Amino acid sequence: MKKKKAISIFLALLSLLLIPSAMLAATVERLAEGVYAFIGKDGSTNSGFIVTEEGVIVIDSQGTRQLAEELKKGIRDVTPKPVIYVVNTHYHGDHTFGNQYFSEARAIIAHENTRRALIERDKAHKERFKKFFGEESLFGFNLTPPTLTFTDKLTLWSGGRKVDLIFAGGPAHTDGDIFVYLAAEKIIFAGDLLYKGRLPLLNDGDTAGAGSAVVELLNTGAQIYVPGHGPLADKNDAGEYMGYLNDLRAEVKRLMGEGKTLEEVKKEIKLPKYGGYIRYADWLPLNAEKVYAEILRVEQENRYIPGGEPAPLKK
Ligand SMILES: [Zn+2]
Repeated sequence: MKKKKAISIFLALLSLLLIPSAMLAATVERLAEGVYAFIGKDGSTNSGFIVTEEGVIVIDSQGTRQLAEELKKGIRDVTPKPVIYVVNTHYHGDHTFGNQYFSEARAIIAHENTRRALIERDKAHKERFKKFFGEESLFGFNLTPPTLTFTDKLTLWSGGRKVDLIFAGGPAHTDGDIFVYLAAEKIIFAGDLLYKGRLPLLNDGDTAGAGSAVVELLNTGAQIYVPGHGPLADKNDAGEYMGYLNDLRAEVKRLMGEGKTLEEVKKEIKLPKYGGYIRYADWLPLNAEKVYAEILRVEQENRYIPGGEPAPLKK
């Protein structure tokens, strides 16, 4: 038995050494006493961790085993304390698929819609994940959904710290986005409610809700914002991201007002102010398509006359 354990420890250590060095490129930034951001390389997924007297609270567990191990190493470099909670800001695999590597945690905490999405969309979600991260990325994967869920707000009182987990209020990036707010330190871990210097993926959510969620973030008065992807942000960056969402919606609306079809809108849309953002060229048409669908839906709803026939959809 002892020998077996020794071998498995050896193999675990060996597997750590075999993590490709290219993957070990995230940076850990200290934001305040005991509060750290784990910033992914080149805009890949960010995490965070908060060290309390009791133990460590992890925000977003990363997507692959290698990245989760790298996050754990980042934590171990700072403290020997155990991880007591893992928080998932939303269901996307790059933020949640590392859950299984934090089995020592007392609970994995998320919005109830996040738990539901992870379970109900499992198959399609994994396929989409593998497209981004490669066929082998889910080797050994076990779906590990949240074990503690809430709907509006949950406060963790841990070792003298107050950590608020707050629902963004409705569909935004997904239908279960929460942000982590440290009132005393004026720090927010925003998950994918906020991007810096990169276009967002909006397919799963609602662009108007995404804009309102940024207002929620700003209303807290926080000074430091850890986005879901990209470098640390401040109030101005959050305002700029909200500006992108507003400009995107206004421009799609304008083009539709000129009678453009979906294909024409996708082809013609330009928002040069954001031309330097990562993914500008390939995701702007996708973002526009999302807004186009939303506007049609809203028009359809608005045109419906109770008791009468709904007006035909404008193509
Ligand atoms: Zn996401």
